[in-house]
Amino acid sequence: MSLLERSSAYWKFAGQCAQCGSCTKACSSLTNNDVTLGQIAQMMLAAERASSTKEELAAAIRANERLVKAVRGCFFCTTCKNTCFAHNDVCDLIYSARADFQNLGLIEPDSWIGVQVDKEWDTFTAYRAIYGIGYPDQIRHVLTTTHEPESDCDIAFFPGCALTAYGSELTVEIFDAIQELGGKTTLIDHCCGSPLKSNGFYDRAIALCDLIAEEITFSGAKQLVCVCPGCANAMRTTFKRNGITDVEIISLPKFLNDHGFEPKQKLPDGKIFLSKACQDRDGSYLEETSKLLGIDMDEAAIYHGCCGAGGAVSSYDPERQQKRTEKKLSFATDDSTVVSMCPTCTYTYGSYLLEKPRPINNKHYAELLFENQFD
Ligand code: SF4
Ligand code: SF4
Repeated sequence: MSLLERSSAYWKFAGQCAQCGSCTKACSSLTNNDVTLGQIAQMMLAAERASSTKEELAAAIRANERLVKAVRGCFFCTTCKNTCFAHNDVCDLIYSARADFQNLGLIEPDSWIGVQVDKEWDTFTAYRAIYGIGYPDQIRHVLTTTHEPESDCDIAFFPGCALTAYGSELTVEIFDAIQELGGKTTLIDHCCGSPLKSNGFYDRAIALCDLIAEEITFSGAKQLVCVCPGCANAMRTTFKRNGITDVEIISLPKFLNDHGFEPKQKLPDGKIFLSKACQDRDGSYLEETSKLLGIDMDEAAIYHGCCGAGGAVSSYDPERQQKRTEKKLSFATDDSTVVSMCPTCTYTYGSYLLEKPRPINNKHYAELLFENQFD
């Protein structure tokens, strides 16, 4: 048996890479470590060839600082993929490397112990327990203290882990609006598994998404409304893998546009900066949000790239994460409002601005549409 569990992913990647170097130029981490994505695959295979046991393999990888830094410093932003003529799948490569790192004990437990989002307790459920946040009336498809499991729902609403924890009143307000506009709704209060993938628990993330898909199927919902583009992408892949074709995945802004929703508040004064999420690959969240808020996309200031939260880089190299957040926020002028598509971006900017205050109004798009706000 191969010492690397994901060796087929490295063989495939190495075989498809022409070593043109475009990905290196597109990424500060690859540039700093003077490595191409194809070389990451090659270095994983070379370490395996030079080792006879898992312990030797772990030591060989640990000794290769460039390899470790490039694998652990990836935000999964896919900027490099956009420059690759072969469209080589960086996420498949780095998720595989992280999974092998995890199997070999190369990812320290401190970085993932709090984000095991398929277990009973993680950062988000602990926060919810401390502040007494539960959704017994909204989670209809499972047995709760107030009702039997219900399987006659029209819509499943998926706010994502950050919003359910840090914006409970906002979550309920959005839930009520969806129900009023589209019919009987149930709440999916799980995480999409992104922190598991980032920390090398790829198979557990897949199992979690499969469980979510089962719950949605049981609920009877024919539409899944997602607040975050990352959750929508994860569920799209999951539905495809499970052959689920009768549930439409729709972004919250598109759902609201389709139903003629009117924002509950006026746009803030001052310039608006739209922060594109790296998971919003086709820009559809940005487009539908701009339409809802009445922002002219041709005139809007849009800025791209990861906010710094992707890939759990903060737990390995907090300085790289800080620099990334700083760079992205540097585009926003004082007294402007930064509008994020993903709640984790809002949270990341919020944490950064607490440490290094600037007069910037930091908002998730849902906070500009509804009355309630993030905690
Ligand atoms: S996905 Fe982003 S961070 Fe990762 S290697 Fe590509 S450009 Fe660099
Ligand atoms: S851009 Fe694509 S083909 Fe070129 S080195 Fe990177 S992964 Fe290989």
